[in-house]
Amino acid sequence: MLSDADLERYARQVIMPHMGEDGQERLLAAKVLVVGAGGLGAPVILYLAAAGIGHITIIDDDKVSRTDLNRQIIYRDADIGIAKAQLAAQAAKAINPDIQVSHLVTRINKGNVKNFVAAHDVIVDCSDNADTRYLLGDCAHHQGRTLVFGGAVRMEGQLAVFQSSVAGHVGTACYRCVFPSMPDAKQAPGCSEAGILGAVTGIVGSLQALETIKLCMGQDSGLTGSLLLIEAGQTEFMKIATAPRKDCSCCGDDQADG
Ligand SMILES: [Zn+2]
Repeated sequence: MLSDADLERYARQVIMPHMGEDGQERLLAAKVLVVGAGGLGAPVILYLAAAGIGHITIIDDDKVSRTDLNRQIIYRDADIGIAKAQLAAQAAKAINPDIQVSHLVTRINKGNVKNFVAAHDVIVDCSDNADTRYLLGDCAHHQGRTLVFGGAVRMEGQLAVFQSSVAGHVGTACYRCVFPSMPDAKQAPGCSEAGILGAVTGIVGSLQALETIKLCMGQDSGLTGSLLLIEAGQTEFMKIATAPRKDCSCCGDDQADG
């Protein structure tokens, strides 16, 4: 049952037929892991907290730099040198003191990824490196969890939802089906070499938050089995279908589904 304070806080979304009190209760019960509190993680964390996702875990091992401030809108000039995960958790709690927010100043690795992924309903990949992305992609598949992937560089963004081992969606593409091999640094330069505009990470992060909220409400995402490509220079959005690969080294025919 929602309290009177909850009904007031969430009044503008509970009134929508899509949401109702049932949908809000599902949001408050949901557990979401946000990996990365940078350009994508900033809008994701703020919107999830504002919408009333009841349990949010934030993982990031980085500290705020001056070069982050063009896009990582949680942070202020005075925050330079402070751990992002800590500040992001404070910001989420400042918006919504009624939710549980945990933070870890650490990095996802082979040793800890399984426990983190298994303990959450939805994993939001806001990371900035290929190693973390593949670890999360493979682990989400093997643990039967939903992965909301986002990426942005220069004026381009990408977004996808992976549910390759989630009931109702088994057999859709996993992360590795769509990105079978790890790109080298030349093929896929990061934001520090190629540049990034804050409003572009804002668009991608806001869409990641939206898909996460829909999924936590119990609705389907419009992006399971699809990849959304955003070209912000010409303001073009293109949604393409993704296909599972029989030879995928994560979910393919030869792989144990463990
Ligand atoms: Zn696959």
